[in-house]
Amino acid sequence: MSKIPEQLAQVQNRVHAALAAAGRAEDAALLLAVSKTKSAAAVREAFGCGQTCFGENYLQEALEKQQQLQDLPIEWHFIGPIQSNKTRAIAENFDWVHSVDRARIAVRLNDQRPPSLPPLNVCVQVNIDAEPSKAGVLPEELPEVLESVAQLPRLRLRGLMAIPAPRSDHGEQQKVLLQVASLLQEWQQRYPQLDTLSMGMSGDLEAAIAAGATIVRVGTDIFGAR
Ligand SMILES: *Cc1c(COP(=O)(O)O)cnc(C)c1O
Repeated sequence: MSKIPEQLAQVQNRVHAALAAAGRAEDAALLLAVSKTKSAAAVREAFGCGQTCFGENYLQEALEKQQQLQDLPIEWHFIGPIQSNKTRAIAENFDWVHSVDRARIAVRLNDQRPPSLPPLNVCVQVNIDAEPSKAGVLPEELPEVLESVAQLPRLRLRGLMAIPAPRSDHGEQQKVLLQVASLLQEWQQRYPQLDTLSMGMSGDLEAAIAAGATIVRVGTDIFGAR
């Protein structure tokens, strides 16, 4: 028997408990179920339990699942690295993109977003630990990318996304999550439309919610190990 319903309920409970502990509103954070490498049947099952937003990292895999799940009103979020030859399919098939990290990618997504769809919701991914091999813009590169997303009419600038490097010490983990939150606050002065902080995964969703996350992206603890 599938464990998805029970595991999803547990994660929902963790999200609610973390919000309550932080004195935040019950609906202040959205649970994004990360279904990469998992089957369309698993997504369908989670949808049947009330989960409506799903995150995917790999375009080809995502498109195949979307094909099989066309009958469901799922909100699809693209959260993986973006190659420029993949922007058209992303612009045509997703509601959100969390991983924009170059102005050039933003321009392509804007130009390729079909006029029949609402503007594409965009978060800019920040490489908060300045890890050389990691995706995302450095904090000092944010102004350029934020400005280009803000000016593109077929994109809707929503927020920042980060995947901090894992730390064994809880306090250290908290510190870096708070750094992302204060970056968002800083840029909200210039772009008041910034309302989204996408951070927190299976291992650190409580800490992320305490730091102000508005979208937590959880895979393993809902669908099991990959
Ligand atoms: C895989 C992935 C997640 C989910 O991670 P889990 O540890 O399985 O919860 C979240 N965000 C991104 C960008 C991912 O690639």
